[in-house]
Amino acid sequence: MRLWMRWSAWLCLSLVLWTVAAESTHNHPSQAEAASCSICVVAHTANPAPHSTSTSPVFAAVDLFREEDVAAQARFDFSDLGIRGPPAFL
Ligand SMILES: [Zn+2]
Repeated sequence: MRLWMRWSAWLCLSLVLWTVAAESTHNHPSQAEAASCSICVVAHTANPAPHSTSTSPVFAAVDLFREEDVAAQARFDFSDLGIRGPPAFL
């Protein structure tokens, strides 16, 4: 894994953790501000409304599966190296 990918992954993970911490620990000095906060409205809703209006799944064919024969080209490694003969004793 490259260094910039590792650092960006850690950055994203730390942003998620900070967001979770901020959302779970924030508070409002007055009840009026809490009523306008979207996090508090969602957290304290007794009956959350579903976001999807579709109740049944929709099945549609995307593409047809076409099977193709795959012929692997088998090759032995030892055939390239050759076979070494017995050691010669002088
Ligand atoms: Zn809030």
